[in-house]
Amino acid sequence: MSPPVGTLPMAEKARPLLRLKDIRVTLSGQAILKGVTGGIPSGRITAVMGTNGAGKSTLLKVLLREVPFKGELVFTCGHDHSHPTPSQIGYVPQRLKVEANLPLTVRDLFGLALSQKPWFWPGVGLPDAEVAQLLTYVHLNSNALDKQVERLSGGELQRVLLALALEPKPELLMLDEPASGIDFVDKALYHERIAEINEERGTTVILVSHDLDLIRKYAHHVLWLEGGVVAAEGTPEEVLLADRLNCGRVGQ
Ligand code: ADP
Ligand code: MG
Repeated sequence: MSPPVGTLPMAEKARPLLRLKDIRVTLSGQAILKGVTGGIPSGRITAVMGTNGAGKSTLLKVLLREVPFKGELVFTCGHDHSHPTPSQIGYVPQRLKVEANLPLTVRDLFGLALSQKPWFWPGVGLPDAEVAQLLTYVHLNSNALDKQVERLSGGELQRVLLALALEPKPELLMLDEPASGIDFVDKALYHERIAEINEERGTTVILVSHDLDLIRKYAHHVLWLEGGVVAAEGTPEEVLLADRLNCGRVGQ
């Protein structure tokens, strides 16, 4: 893992991949984001934190252009992000909008996700060997191919979703509370893998999480949302101060 951003001399600090400038979102007449300003360092892991309802998921949806917003998103990579593609942004949402009893296997899910055709179309999707390789990359046994999605454990499902988000290789990977619902050991392994991917590929990662220990260990940068704005931004050491945490706000 690369050293936390705060430990590098100023000159070596990562340039931002993205600057958020006064992002405002109103949904159903309610102001959710009231002027979010901050940076996402390129090639680093940024944790987005804050209480439930603070607008973390909404902020990711702004980047995906899923919700209307005011303000500016300035990407420094030079690509046009007004209609982001999966090669620009890989995304794992907080909740899946699929029927729990949809009889899909992992193979079907990949076929569905990675092609423009229905999953039952002849020859649709990637060859098994390629899907197996993608699964192995996220430390999932390739025999998961034939498992029904609804029978996967929380940790297995998160790995499948991560493998999908990594194909094709995105420049920005956004994971919205990926570790909720997976057990402690799986959670640690999952974050370790995210850190390895970040280092191996230089992928910029935005991770919404409440897990203080894992953020302290793996995140380089933290944006703390509160009251619709960024109340604090910096290294985990700078942002995760006792008095902020003692307000009992994390994970509520
Ligand atoms: P977080 O991810 O930080 O828990 P969210 O971004 O999901 O918070 O939601 C922030 C607030 O916006 C919540 O109060 C939520 O109820 C509200 N909200 C989210 N989506 C909508 C919507 N489509 N219409 C109205 N309110 C919404
Ligand atoms: Mg959320």
